[in-house]
Amino acid sequence: MFQSPVDVGVTIEQPFRILVVGGSYGGLSAALNLQDLCRGLAPRCGPKPNEGEHVERPQYPVDITIVDERDGFYHLIGSPLALASESYAEKCWVKYEDIPALQSPNIHVLHGTVQSVDQQRKVATYVARGGGTQTSEIEYDYLVAASGLRRVWPVVPQSLRRKQYLFEAGDHIRAAMTARHGVVIVGGGAVGIEMAAELKLVQPHLKVTLVHSRDKLLSSEPLPDDVKDRSLELLREANVDVLMSHRLDRTEEIKDDQGNKCFRVHFTNGHTMLADQVAMAISRSVPSTTFLSDKALDNEGYVKIQASLAFPPDTPNSADHFAIGDVVKWSGIKRCGAAMHMGYFAANNIHQRIQKEVSGKEPAFLELEEIPPMIGLAVGKKAVSYWPQAGMSSGEDVMKAFFGDDLGFTICWNHMRLGGKNVL
Ligand SMILES: Cc1cc2nc3c(=O)[nH]c(=O)nc-3n(C[C@H](O)[C@H](O)[C@H](O)COP(=O)(O)OP(=O)(O)OC[C@H]3O[C@@H](n4cnc5c(N)ncnc54)[C@H](O)[C@@H]3O)c2cc1C
Repeated sequence: MFQSPVDVGVTIEQPFRILVVGGSYGGLSAALNLQDLCRGLAPRCGPKPNEGEHVERPQYPVDITIVDERDGFYHLIGSPLALASESYAEKCWVKYEDIPALQSPNIHVLHGTVQSVDQQRKVATYVARGGGTQTSEIEYDYLVAASGLRRVWPVVPQSLRRKQYLFEAGDHIRAAMTARHGVVIVGGGAVGIEMAAELKLVQPHLKVTLVHSRDKLLSSEPLPDDVKDRSLELLREANVDVLMSHRLDRTEEIKDDQGNKCFRVHFTNGHTMLADQVAMAISRSVPSTTFLSDKALDNEGYVKIQASLAFPPDTPNSADHFAIGDVVKWSGIKRCGAAMHMGYFAANNIHQRIQKEVSGKEPAFLELEEIPPMIGLAVGKKAVSYWPQAGMSSGEDVMKAFFGDDLGFTICWNHMRLGGKNVL
């Protein structure tokens, strides 16, 4: 039995059980911010308290279970560099057991896949990795869906264990290093631009060509033209060959004049070129939400959240179910900063719900506002940034501010304080 120090007189029979599906930016942020709030602390991703300010927060016992298909936190936004540099690949994936902030008796990380969620009964089924097809049930009081998008290779590694992932990345990097005819990256969205620029940065001898079917890069993003034009200039400055208005028709496997296997790449305008590797960076990412009821989803599979991040009101126990990060149907370009921010909001709103349950106090929810299009894009040694108030900026200083010197790994790690309570 637990006695809440603040809600004196209320006895809580068992800890509140929180299930977080997905242990990446959104899921870890939700779990750790909730842990802070339930310990009476300022939430780590919330506004910094003023000097000497102390906000009284009721403390509650919580038991947080995070389920992820991977065996560690994978810094997804570092993928373009992780698939170009073996030393960076080592840094980019940290097993959950090696993340100090998660080493707490009330945080449990399970390596497996959530297969279904019964909102009515508040029970999820999951299959443990390596456990065959046997399913287990997890009962919960509050659920946070933070399962992101399913992305194809070679946009992101497909391995689910760190060890395998290092082989996967290593094989890919070594194949590119020996490429005589170069590497072609198809798709001039944010991912294709970063992939091409990182590869060229790490392997300057390599011929890297980015091809895009439209006459502007980032053509499907609602960004001003100067951002798109500057991205193209930076790519060219980084010595990436860029072919605009080139739509891929097909790739044909052939032998080159030395009898080595390579590809002839055909474009619909009749142009052809040789390449040793052709990487597709055309977005075909779909939300990983097949474990949720169709009623909670739009026709593309995104969760139709309310501004409080709660599930749609016409689904069972909607106020106890939250979705955050890339899986939600909301305005704005999908970004890891938004995922961490939503994790903090979901944590706050769950804490408020618990408070209501324990003491009857009316909850004060944090609610999402419209998110305008904004972006920070790494292009080799420089970066381009845009948000409506500040407009477009670019340069090495923008790279430093948005990505540090490791494509944002340390910035995200520190923001979520994954190194432990006192490690910033
Ligand atoms: C190559 C690339 C570059 C990017 N660059 C940037 C950038 O520079 N800046 C930026 O802000 N954003 C960038 N993004 C976007 C950013 O990565 C996403 O917005 C962010 O990852 C979203 O975080 P998330 O926690 O919602 O989901 P994810 O990071 O996708 O995490 C979802 C987690 O859920 C797990 N999972 C999925 N389904 C299940 C299931 N059924 N059961 C258990 N676990 C499950 C997955 O294994 C994964 O760990 C980039 C994305 C890519 C692909």
